[in-house]
Amino acid sequence: MILQLKRLFERIGDRQDLDCIIPLEELREYSGCKSIITPISLKGRIQNRAGMVSLDYSCKLTVRHLCDRCLDEFDREYRLEFEHILVKDESSVEDENAFLCPGGSLDLNELAVSDFLAEMPTKVLCREDCKGLCPVCGKNLNLGCCDCGADTIGKE
Ligand SMILES: [Zn+2]
Ligand SMILES: [Zn+2]
Repeated sequence: MILQLKRLFERIGDRQDLDCIIPLEELREYSGCKSIITPISLKGRIQNRAGMVSLDYSCKLTVRHLCDRCLDEFDREYRLEFEHILVKDESSVEDENAFLCPGGSLDLNELAVSDFLAEMPTKVLCREDCKGLCPVCGKNLNLGCCDCGADTIGKE
């Protein structure tokens, strides 16, 4: 989704509300987003304050993760909030929080995807106290003890 913000960039005091959904099909174009299983719903506001254009938004989505310890699949809903300064040309991208909008057009998908990817943990657990797999028989110990006896080792 591309937003034309040319006028907003020019008019101090202007603002625009955002309330949109990025469909799954559009997310499929980005590698790294394969794990997203719901559309991204996004609400926010873009404002031109004294010539400085800022965007803040929150988004909601569900991700299918693979637990790093027990290798089980699980879904987790995220609500994330972000803030950016929007700039029209590259020379003004000093702030790492700045997002480039060439000619005043904002690629909202690109922005939401890069924010999402930056926010995702590299390792996830299905739950904090996930017991993982038995190192001997491979059974998922969240589902109960295994019979191989390995789970009693080291518990004394
Ligand atoms: Zn787990
Ligand atoms: Zn076992």
